[in-house]
Amino acid sequence: MIPAFFDSIVALITKTSTDLPPDVRAAMASALTTEEPATRAGQALTIIAQNIDQAESCESPICQDTGMPTFEVHVPVGANQIWMRATIREAVAEATKRGKLRPNSVDSITGENSGNNLGPGTPIIHFDQWEQDDIEVRLILKGGGCENTNAQYALPADLDHLGRADRSLEGVRKAVLHAVWKAQGKGCSPGAVGVCVGGDRTSGYLHAKEQLFRTLDDTNPDARLAQLEASIMDEANQLTVGPMGFGGKTSLIGCKIGALNRLPASFFVSVAYDCWAFRRLGVRLDASTGAITSWMYRDAEKSRPMLAPEVVATGFPRTGREISLQAPITEDQVRGLEVGDVVLISGRMYTGRDAVHAHLMKHAPEVDLNGAVLYHCGPVVAKEDPASPKPPGEGGWSVTAAGPTTSIREEPYQADIIRKFGVRVVIGKGGMGPRTLAGLEESGAVYLNAIGGAAQFYARCIERVEGVSHLEFGTPEAMWHLQVRDFPAIVTMDAHGNSLHKDIEEASGKVLASLRPA
Ligand code: SF4
Repeated sequence: MIPAFFDSIVALITKTSTDLPPDVRAAMASALTTEEPATRAGQALTIIAQNIDQAESCESPICQDTGMPTFEVHVPVGANQIWMRATIREAVAEATKRGKLRPNSVDSITGENSGNNLGPGTPIIHFDQWEQDDIEVRLILKGGGCENTNAQYALPADLDHLGRADRSLEGVRKAVLHAVWKAQGKGCSPGAVGVCVGGDRTSGYLHAKEQLFRTLDDTNPDARLAQLEASIMDEANQLTVGPMGFGGKTSLIGCKIGALNRLPASFFVSVAYDCWAFRRLGVRLDASTGAITSWMYRDAEKSRPMLAPEVVATGFPRTGREISLQAPITEDQVRGLEVGDVVLISGRMYTGRDAVHAHLMKHAPEVDLNGAVLYHCGPVVAKEDPASPKPPGEGGWSVTAAGPTTSIREEPYQADIIRKFGVRVVIGKGGMGPRTLAGLEESGAVYLNAIGGAAQFYARCIERVEGVSHLEFGTPEAMWHLQVRDFPAIVTMDAHGNSLHKDIEEASGKVLASLRPA
């Protein structure tokens, strides 16, 4: 029994979820100065910077997807790991109750959300003994959007635009560049990659994720890998994928490569992609009391706000060309929109992600979706008075984090749902595929890209929760009925067959091909 251990772990989770570490802030500040403010990339980065400052100032999640909590714990010889594991699990449940973590643990057979982030395999806790007297706990929160863009290559392989990648560091370079190009904006770029060369399929992915515990500004002690990291950073940022896949000069803020021995027959390159909301912190604890003796990665001196307070207070950086739309929205209004338009949505908006889309394929909606705005979002929703029996819509509920989720998962459903129920606007991130693009044209609808991870920024656009459907799916998966004001997003797929995502993927693919050695 270590008396302060529980509180220290709750504090670690809270800070990790709400306060981006200084090395990541510095990398994002540098990206902010690289992009022109009036471009899509510049506007996206300004919203991200506002979001980072807002999350820290109100101690709320930076992104609504607080990811898979992954703890790396070093303990002195003889420490009781069984008790510590149980206490870390209790701390995770407590942080979830306090709204610092979204309930993210879903039964893979039944689809039921445990509601407290506990379940088989959740959270992930790794222990190692060391010959030091104190305890070290490091935590990373990596969300689903970027987790889904992880990639593993078995070399040799033939890669789009790059040709053959051999079993060499040149082959590794090609594999990592390919992974960054493939990710486009789906993992909320600009991102960072942890890479493992070698290992087996399992240890490779683990070691790749462990590279993300390195600071973005460190130097690899292996000169060959240091050189490879530098060249990948340089080339990845020529790809023009840009923030959120909108095009631009910053696609990657970090590349950290480790190596493990491999079997003679295998040569894996494992890539763990993390988004700009790169949440990782650590603490050193007194082993007898559990009290925090120091923080890791969190130099208060360097942890400066991203933007001046007056800039944060002004909200969305407007150019005067924004188009205001009030829901419900007509077909004529959406057919008048084109890729690149920035719109500000007001009125009723419905959230819907995987469970809602699957449900709507077989059932009628509980609400009228004609002219509706459907937001791919799994918000963090808090009941202000947990004892109150009031349902949503009669007060007492608030959205504390509400950024978009990755839309491509809904590709098999979206066109049918738009056609069947008259949805006019779909909002998400990362774009959608050809089936949805054709559906937008046929039915008269548009896809808007919101800024991924900007959970605090978008929560401030929500005036109130007016109701909820399908709460049985769990809070992230339920359909929340929200009243919003001036919710900004960019038209990236219009009703005329145009897709910014397709254009950027093709253009960046040409750049990727030019990075192939002669
Ligand atoms: S910033 Fe984007 S990729 Fe990262 S956790 Fe949030 S939604 Fe997922």
